[in-house]
Amino acid sequence: MPLAAGGPRTLLRRLREIMTEPGSAQARLDKLVGVIAANMVAEVCSIYLRRAGNILELFATEGLNRSAVHNTRMKRGEGLVGLVAETAEPLNLSDARLHPHFSYRPETGEDPFHSFLGVPILRGGQVFGVLTVQNKAARQYDEEEIEALQTIAMVLAEVVAQGGLFDIAELDEPALRADKPLAFRGEGLSEGVAIGRVVLHEPRVKVDKLIADDPVAELQRLDAALEKLASEVDEMLDSTELDLTGESREVIEAYRLLVHDQGWRERLRDAVRAGLTSEAAVERVHDEMRLRMTRAGDPFLREKRHDFDDLARRLLRHLGGDGANVPDLPDDAILLARAMGPAELLDYGRDKLKGLVLEDAASTSHVAIVARAMGVPLVGSADGISDAARAGDDIVIDGETGEAHLRPPAEILSVFSARRALREQRVARLAQVRDLPAVTKDGVHIRLMMNAGLLIDMPHLKESGADGVGLFRTELQFMIGETMPTLDDQIQFYRQVLDAAGDKPVVFRTLDLGGDKVLPYGRWEREANPSLGWRALRIALDRPALMRYQVRALLTAARDRTLRLLLPMVSDVAEFNMARALIDREIERARRLGKPQPRQIQVGAMVEVPALVFMLPQVLRSADFVSIGSNDLIQFAFAMDRTNPRVARRYDSLNPAMLTMIHHIVVAASEAGGEVSLCGEMAGRPLEAMALVGLGLRTLSMQPANIGPVKMMIRSLDTRDVSPFVLRQCGRTDHSLRTRLSAFAAERGIAIN
Ligand code: PEP
Ligand code: MG
Repeated sequence: MPLAAGGPRTLLRRLREIMTEPGSAQARLDKLVGVIAANMVAEVCSIYLRRAGNILELFATEGLNRSAVHNTRMKRGEGLVGLVAETAEPLNLSDARLHPHFSYRPETGEDPFHSFLGVPILRGGQVFGVLTVQNKAARQYDEEEIEALQTIAMVLAEVVAQGGLFDIAELDEPALRADKPLAFRGEGLSEGVAIGRVVLHEPRVKVDKLIADDPVAELQRLDAALEKLASEVDEMLDSTELDLTGESREVIEAYRLLVHDQGWRERLRDAVRAGLTSEAAVERVHDEMRLRMTRAGDPFLREKRHDFDDLARRLLRHLGGDGANVPDLPDDAILLARAMGPAELLDYGRDKLKGLVLEDAASTSHVAIVARAMGVPLVGSADGISDAARAGDDIVIDGETGEAHLRPPAEILSVFSARRALREQRVARLAQVRDLPAVTKDGVHIRLMMNAGLLIDMPHLKESGADGVGLFRTELQFMIGETMPTLDDQIQFYRQVLDAAGDKPVVFRTLDLGGDKVLPYGRWEREANPSLGWRALRIALDRPALMRYQVRALLTAARDRTLRLLLPMVSDVAEFNMARALIDREIERARRLGKPQPRQIQVGAMVEVPALVFMLPQVLRSADFVSIGSNDLIQFAFAMDRTNPRVARRYDSLNPAMLTMIHHIVVAASEAGGEVSLCGEMAGRPLEAMALVGLGLRTLSMQPANIGPVKMMIRSLDTRDVSPFVLRQCGRTDHSLRTRLSAFAAERGIAIN
């Protein structure tokens, strides 16, 4: 059956006209089905839309009984229409009645029609409804017809979503409606309450123009963009400069497979041939593929959606010739994204950004660390939020409880305003303790240091009243750049950090790369277990030039001051000694060349690998101090990947085994006469910090925002009570001692929040 004269383009144009015509929505829908039927040379054309409870309702028909409109309804999966909605795939049958899913509806009067073609009305990965055509003659519809009907369905989806045909509220299906409030319960990853408007990070494909003016020229435009995309991806892979390996290579290789996939290309080209603009074609094909991937139920495929989204965005950028992807933010921007890297977050700057919501992020991921450093509230693991949200939607988030409310009703809004005000009061209260000493009721002084990694962290030293920087993660500076910082860059950078610190000490941790901390440049082999792989000190010892340059830069930057170096992921004493020898060689070199020297140099070891826990006396013979990296120590102690949101919170740092291990480290270090501190995330949580002080720790390093609350806790604590209590608890078998410790704190009036 050939398409009627004029082809799909004329039809799309006509549809657009109908949409803008005056009159009732129903009248417009009725007209629409008439025009589609005529154009497709079909005797029947019907539109079914989804209502609450996954019911598909006949909204308009040409050819079936008009009395069935708004009366014929199909449940999920019921009949052929239900099947199309469920599979989100076209269904092409020469005799509908022979299909096992066929469900006879006498009120429609469909008896004379044999052939059936149904396509889903898709948008943003959701099925809005089903569009069907039917003919009396028993025949298969051809590819061109299926393509044409899919294109029409896409235009329809757009119109339905925009409320262009009738009030979208009539659909009464929260998942499809853009105006209903939605609540999400994710994970609180960076504290703070934010009220603002949604900005979509790399927003979902936004297509303004659906119908192309000149399909031949449009096809050329698409082909040109596809070529650009393909050569971009090929160049990335072949580039000796980028030298992609590891995960980044895997992603790009997946892109290459997709970019060169003839099926994908042809689907895009077919959509353009049918009259769509290239952008609309990307959206349509992308929507269909995403939906199929989501429905596949295979978590690997579902994960691939993120890559696929990225690919579509890249193609759109080539189409628009627009490389910039950092939008201008409104003053009250709350960013939403599936996932984001630390560099991308930094691109936005901290001025206008009020909050961040991510679907994939664990508390120790780098984007979370940067969000905390920027003081930006962050909610992670908010599944599905980026699909449900539209740019400009109102949103409120609480980075402590992990709540996010999209399009919040007035009551929620006022609850959050009150919460925000309370928080501001608390911040003001904390400001009062800023200049007070961190001393317990029984006179024990606790050194409260802050963690940092970027220059933007340094002003917090003064604001928070921290005693110094207990952990400076130098790798962050390496991770956010496009290229490896030169020796001079590094000298400049460390000098600025030390200048910003003034008299306060700074502990520079040497590069802790590998695992989840991968440089955007350089050679990275793919590893099956990256956190157990070639990382941190292991890289430094195998590739000594990297570490020697860093040490050289630090020695130069710290002239006439005390330089404190901390070596990450020390697994073995011999390894520490080798690294120390490397540092000594650099010191010797500087001396030989008559370079300025630090006044004093101290080298410490991080205790984050359980093996080192048993070697403390030995390591402290050559190390000046040790610092417990509890984030990694807990990951290795419990065999629990800290970057995997499924297990990252499975074991609590307040587990008796963890506390016992920390106690052992503190005792062993003190017997060996070495200084010990703890710089993992647990140091910054008042309840955990209470337990740590109970275990004998006297130096804690944490996010600057946590210094105030931890100090308030310390000032209300008596170590003579807490120490015996915590040590007693270590003998228990509880999964977590949190409840017992909280009860203790409440009983003793210890300030825990
Ligand atoms: C740790 O492991 O506790 C730590 C402080 O280091 P990072 O979080 O950077 O691995
Ligand atoms: Mg670590």
